[in-house]
Amino acid sequence: MGEVKTEPVVARHVPDRMDFRDGLKGRVPGSFRVDEPDSDGDQAFWYCCPCGCGVVGPLNVGNGFKPEMGPSWAWNGSLEKPTLTPSVHHVGHWHGYLTDGVWRSC
Ligand SMILES: [Zn+2]
Repeated sequence: MGEVKTEPVVARHVPDRMDFRDGLKGRVPGSFRVDEPDSDGDQAFWYCCPCGCGVVGPLNVGNGFKPEMGPSWAWNGSLEKPTLTPSVHHVGHWHGYLTDGVWRSC
């Protein structure tokens, strides 16, 4: 199966863990929530696949840095206009960038 191309999708922050878990309330394609940092400052960035398949995946992110334990991403710390680097690859399925609060497939 090839990778899915999508139109740009706005990344909506869902602050409440239970709302995010409940797909009817808060979890829409491209939405995300971020756990509190652990002792190393690493945080789990949970995102709902922008393509609309409903899959939720965790990314290991650092606020303003890229955690050493890979794979990991640097997050700009914004909940309004989040940016992650490098690109996010939902292997075999979706590959793109989250930049300034918008998911763009490549
Ligand atoms: Zn998907």
